[in-house]
Amino acid sequence: MQPQRIIDFHHHGGGTAPADYLRQLVPQAQHWNIHKIVMLGLEWPGITMSSRNRDILACWKGEPGLVVPFAALDMQKSSDPAQVDALREQGFVGLKFIRPPVPYHDERFYPWYDRAQQLKMPCLFHLGIVARLPEWEGHRTDSNLMRPIHLDTIARSFPGLTLVGAHLGNPWYEEAAMSCRWNPNLYFDLSGSTLKRMRPEAIGELLWWGGTTYPAYRDRLGRSAWEKILFGSDVNAPDIGDVIGDYNRLVETLELPSELVDAIFYRTGASLLEAAGLTMS
Ligand SMILES: [Zn+2]
Repeated sequence: MQPQRIIDFHHHGGGTAPADYLRQLVPQAQHWNIHKIVMLGLEWPGITMSSRNRDILACWKGEPGLVVPFAALDMQKSSDPAQVDALREQGFVGLKFIRPPVPYHDERFYPWYDRAQQLKMPCLFHLGIVARLPEWEGHRTDSNLMRPIHLDTIARSFPGLTLVGAHLGNPWYEEAAMSCRWNPNLYFDLSGSTLKRMRPEAIGELLWWGGTTYPAYRDRLGRSAWEKILFGSDVNAPDIGDVIGDYNRLVETLELPSELVDAIFYRTGASLLEAAGLTMS
């Protein structure tokens, strides 16, 4: 069974120039009925990927109806809230965070989160073990600073802020799942290697609330766990179908009802983008 409609909530700029990448991406979006693609900027010294904020803006300008631009903030630099305003004015809808020098919930970052909350900009955080990139070799990288439980603190401090944690916190899945349950403003994607290595049943045991076994344990807004999970690919255009297949295997093995499948692939993501001011076509 193929999902009827998709929002990809975790995508980067690909390995080529923006115009070239869009030539790969648009046919894939049409093939898989992907309505929106959240493209996440990445900014750090010496970055070698074609996913800088300027690349993401170029993709958005090339395909404004498809691409939803999220901007990276370099967490090694000062957290001046005016940076958030400037990114909003450039057209960015949300923000992306990765590789902080201190934990994500350090209060030095609160001016950014506070301004994002005011401007209704959703914030996506890389979580868990991080890739080993050539430009980071020899520099201190601490994946422990990107744990799901840090988002629990931020979600409580900023109840009006929408947070998305990437990769279900791989490998800190228990922290991610329980933080998801208690925070109505905290969502997760399952991109990365999680769906390759974890059995669907194991993921189902983590995301237990609101299902047929424990229907009373819904979240504060009456939702089940699967209404807090987003489809995200985190691969280049040619491999999107492979990740859709992984998500399909998950929902089919767990026999999730069609309305929850639609929530994962589309409806929850759409509601988050609408809350950020986008109109879904
Ligand atoms: Zn990513």
